[in-house]
Amino acid sequence: MSRTPDPDPPPAATPPRIAIVGRPNVGKSTLLNALAGTRVSIVESTAGVTRDRVGVVATVAGRTVELVDTGGVGLVDRHGLEAAVEAQAARALADAHAILFVVDAREGRLPLDVRVARRLRGHEARVVLVMNKAETEGLAWNAAEFLALGFGEPVAVSALNGWHLDDLEARLDPLLPRGPAFEHRAPEPDLKLALVGRVNAGKSSLVNALLRDERMIVSEVPGTTRDSVDVRLERDGRALVLIDTAGIRKERSVQGSLEFYAQRRAEKAMRRADVTALVLDATAEVGRLDRRIAGYALRHHQPVVLVANKWDACQGRMKATEFARYVEAAIPGLPFAPLVFTSAVTGHNVERLLDVAWRLAGQAGTRVGTAEVNRAVEAAYALRRPRPTHGRVGRVYYASQVDVRPPTFVLFVNDKSLFPSTWLRFVENRLRETLPVAEVPVRVVLRNRERSPSRAAGSRGPDA
Ligand code: GDP
Ligand code: GDP
Repeated sequence: MSRTPDPDPPPAATPPRIAIVGRPNVGKSTLLNALAGTRVSIVESTAGVTRDRVGVVATVAGRTVELVDTGGVGLVDRHGLEAAVEAQAARALADAHAILFVVDAREGRLPLDVRVARRLRGHEARVVLVMNKAETEGLAWNAAEFLALGFGEPVAVSALNGWHLDDLEARLDPLLPRGPAFEHRAPEPDLKLALVGRVNAGKSSLVNALLRDERMIVSEVPGTTRDSVDVRLERDGRALVLIDTAGIRKERSVQGSLEFYAQRRAEKAMRRADVTALVLDATAEVGRLDRRIAGYALRHHQPVVLVANKWDACQGRMKATEFARYVEAAIPGLPFAPLVFTSAVTGHNVERLLDVAWRLAGQAGTRVGTAEVNRAVEAAYALRRPRPTHGRVGRVYYASQVDVRPPTFVLFVNDKSLFPSTWLRFVENRLRETLPVAEVPVRVVLRNRERSPSRAAGSRGPDA
């Protein structure tokens, strides 16, 4: 087969790649996070390309790019340092359209910096020299030292406080390739799944198990102000985003406030999600935070999959049915939520968790025909009518589904005040039992109607 000398023929649009290199501790991962910042759209373990690369897809200089911290994968022991920086540089040179060569303004030029520089020699056109930790005035003298590395004037920035990152972006912009092959747009995920629950329940272990052995670096970087990290996965051609709230923690020593922040973080993640996985530690008791998260999900009609994690540690001590009964009593209001027993350590059922999440998303998006809804409501009404008030009985003329996520059903009735909330709960439960929405919250709304309009099967109300 003959090969055309095309330097970069990507099959589909891929974002331009920016590699970050430098010796340890200069601030590479801090810089990656600062550049990605709140603008991170996706954390993507670039599966299938190289196993040892983890990239963040982010918006930098107004472009969708992939940022790669070449030093962020694998631990480097003291003796392996030189080999490690060489390997980083080699990887950056092989892969990247632009290379951020990071040095430390406070420490000045060190032999390892020179080593990286030597490796990048000949590729100056792709390299931007970044003098990090330059927030302190009076470090200008170091700039001259770094100038001697041979990559032109260094850009002085502070990754820690975001100082002069716009200058850096301006220097980067002309290095990024243009054209349709590089105008990458991340596709909208088909499902967003929030992983919430108490510290140590095993949320990050589950994320890592789902990523198999692809490690995330971004969630492990301290000092970010983000509340959660989006981890993108693909399964059977479908895109899935895990919203991982585990990353930042233990920043408060007072138990109460720790829990307060954990809850707020969980709620923020849930608002962005289609489905919530409430991760429980099966070796411990259900806690207040678990109940609060469940309550929030119920109020907001969010589908929930309950996860009994660490199930490997419960073997022989407890039966699944026992634990299910315990959870049903401990977390009231969610008896319809499925419960999945997982072990993040052995990998048991972690893929099943995704299957269940997909199923819930499907149910939450279900549309049921009006005839079927009416049959279900009539059957529920026949089973149990609202008790008469002052001699009047509540009557349902007809019903119809008006929305999805959550599945929302409107019941047109003679007088809303004749239907107590207990009856509404009863109808919600019956609809779940008879319609294909068994495991998700549904909403039942009453609306007054003067008299019954045409009740021909399948007909919809005038404004339904
Ligand atoms: P890496 O090993 O190159 O990825 O370095 P890190 O990003 O882990 O940063 C090493 C240390 O430098 C951390 O303690 C950071 O908080 C700190 N650091 C990173 N950027 C800055 C900066 O702009 N200013 C200051 N003062 N410290 C920074
Ligand atoms: P997070 O705070 O919810 O992200 O919890 P981590 O994922 O950090 O896990 C907390 C601790 O529980 C770690 O020591 C994990 O190794 C352990 N752990 C997590 N999942 C499991 C599991 O399925 N089985 C067992 N035996 N231990 C687990």
